[in-house]
Amino acid sequence: MSILVVGSVAFDSIETPAGKRERCLGGAATYFSLAASYFTQVRVIAVVGEDFTAEQEAVLTSRGVDTRGIEHASGKSFHWTGSYLKNLNEAQTLKTELNVFERFTPQIPADYRDSEFLFLANIDPSLQEQVRRQMTAVRMVCGDTMNYWISGHAKNLARVLESLDTLLINDGEAKLLGGDPNLLCAARKILSMGPKSLVVKHGEYGATAFFGQRSAIGNGGAIAPFRSPALPLAEIVDPTGAGDSFAGGFFGHLASQPAVTLKAFREAMFYGGVMGSFAVERFGTDRLQSLTRAEIDQRFSLFREMSHLE
Ligand code: AMP
Repeated sequence: MSILVVGSVAFDSIETPAGKRERCLGGAATYFSLAASYFTQVRVIAVVGEDFTAEQEAVLTSRGVDTRGIEHASGKSFHWTGSYLKNLNEAQTLKTELNVFERFTPQIPADYRDSEFLFLANIDPSLQEQVRRQMTAVRMVCGDTMNYWISGHAKNLARVLESLDTLLINDGEAKLLGGDPNLLCAARKILSMGPKSLVVKHGEYGATAFFGQRSAIGNGGAIAPFRSPALPLAEIVDPTGAGDSFAGGFFGHLASQPAVTLKAFREAMFYGGVMGSFAVERFGTDRLQSLTRAEIDQRFSLFREMSHLE
């Protein structure tokens, strides 16, 4: 089943305890697409500037990602500058240059319209909404956002939240959005804003899913929260894109299954953790470009072993 994703395709300048990189290929939609490409067909909607090269686009196409929906505009590509020197679990944004994203009107190619799964990756919520409105027949919609949009674009974000099946955000964002320092209380508040389920990512501590009353997963009864692990790693080279890679593994697995059941949802959380753990092993998208499905499945088995209770 195909996934359509809208989000940033960008250049990232990153500083971590392991070193520094200037203008490497990044962006939420880039990480998401690469991770999901190991599970299913992915189509991207984004905009890049004149500084985006054919070689950079080939990073996506060589993984089979359909990039016909990436518009090439005059001007510079989105550029994000971030640091993990203070906290490896949470990026400190130093600069956000939207550039060509400031004047972007998403156009969905006719060939993309039959996509059954839609992922609204981290980008201006008004762009997420424009794409959501054009994709009326999708089976499942997941979305992401971040502090930048929660604090400054709350009204637009509220409209996006109403149309989501699942929201995936990190725990700092969940507490900010839910307006409560307690995660469970924040989750309940968020579920009352529209999403039928919520996946909260805790960086190196795994992820937790919360399900609302309207969740179509399960048999109609209340579903208890579900916690999935993260892999303890000796070295984290670059946490950038871990959240988007989690989302790619999560949604990629769901889209590859015959039905979105509670079992598939829980497995998807594990695959999310697997893809996040690979992403942080090297700078930028390096590790995600060179994986094999066998490596992914091997790590999935490790995740199962790690959390199995006899
Ligand atoms: P994460 O998976 O949360 O680490 O996301 C990292 C990616 O998000 C980076 O590659 C950035 O290019 C991208 N990013 C950062 N800020 C924004 C923003 N305001 N809008 C869209 N994408 C962003």
